[in-house]
Amino acid sequence: MAIIINGKDLAKKTKENLKVEVDELKEKGIIPKLAVIMVGDNAASKIYVRNKSKACDMVGVQYEEFLLGDNIAQEELIKLIEKLNEDDSINGILLQSPIPRNLDINEAFRTIDYRKDVDGFHPINVGKLSIGQDTFVSCTPYGVMRMFEEYNIDLSGKNVVILGRSNIVGKPLLQCCLNKNATVTICHSKTVNIKEITRKADVLISAIGKPCFVTEDMVKDDVVVIDVGINRLETGKVVGDVDFENVSKKASYITPVPGGVGPMTIAMLMNNLVKATKEQKKLI
Ligand code: NAP
Repeated sequence: MAIIINGKDLAKKTKENLKVEVDELKEKGIIPKLAVIMVGDNAASKIYVRNKSKACDMVGVQYEEFLLGDNIAQEELIKLIEKLNEDDSINGILLQSPIPRNLDINEAFRTIDYRKDVDGFHPINVGKLSIGQDTFVSCTPYGVMRMFEEYNIDLSGKNVVILGRSNIVGKPLLQCCLNKNATVTICHSKTVNIKEITRKADVLISAIGKPCFVTEDMVKDDVVVIDVGINRLETGKVVGDVDFENVSKKASYITPVPGGVGPMTIAMLMNNLVKATKEQKKLI
């Protein structure tokens, strides 16, 4: 039976440690501040944003929300980002996705000052990650890497298979694992015979968004399984991409959903905000 990687507890510990760092900053008269931009009325986004604001309260940093209507023009969104870039009291800027389709999210991400890009989506930060330089790593992959570290799971020389190639999860994870000397394979919707690939994985990370996609016959004994997926079933129950009950019988380590990668994502956002603040104040 697998060891359960407890993301909830690790996230709590991470935020408690960050609170200590934030208290030290406050003694120097510095209070980190996160600006969150939300465009339109997306129910899931509202929940994510509420969780981020709660985390800010917990860590003791300031938080300001900028709510823009569905019909906002691209220029207005860009103007707001530029204003926040200029504002010295703001240390981190986050644009909650999705945004309405008529808007260009890539231009918006590019406009965020890369030194305030706590989500790690700016092309400069993406580029720095790909050449192994210190940067803001996007929060979900960063949270997964923290889990490996905490549970002493060494990736060096391991076969890591990632399911999903999105810009926010799969691709940065590929870079992170490569930087830890893993041999990485990334699968997507056009990959042929996924099972043959996943069965060779020492570490399997699933980020595709399909309930029960990863079944026990797709993994080998003692595999480490990280489930990034978040899927809401018709019953309202939230599950990952992995058939947890059966895969956990074969795995050596596994993350649950909920209580796995999700809480770590928000903790790493807080981590990136504190890092951004310290860098801007030339404290690191
Ligand atoms: P996304 O942008 O929709 O990407 C999904 C990826 O899965 C794509 O690369 C897609 O391939 C691939 N895929 C879809 N169906 C597949 C199949 N049958 N076989 C193989 N690959 C398949 O999603 P995302 O934003 O990366 O999110 C993925 C999941 O993680 C979602 O459930 C999301 O809710 C969750 N998530 C969780 C957190 C967290 O904090 N825990 C954070 C972010 C996302 P193509 O590229 O070929 O289309």
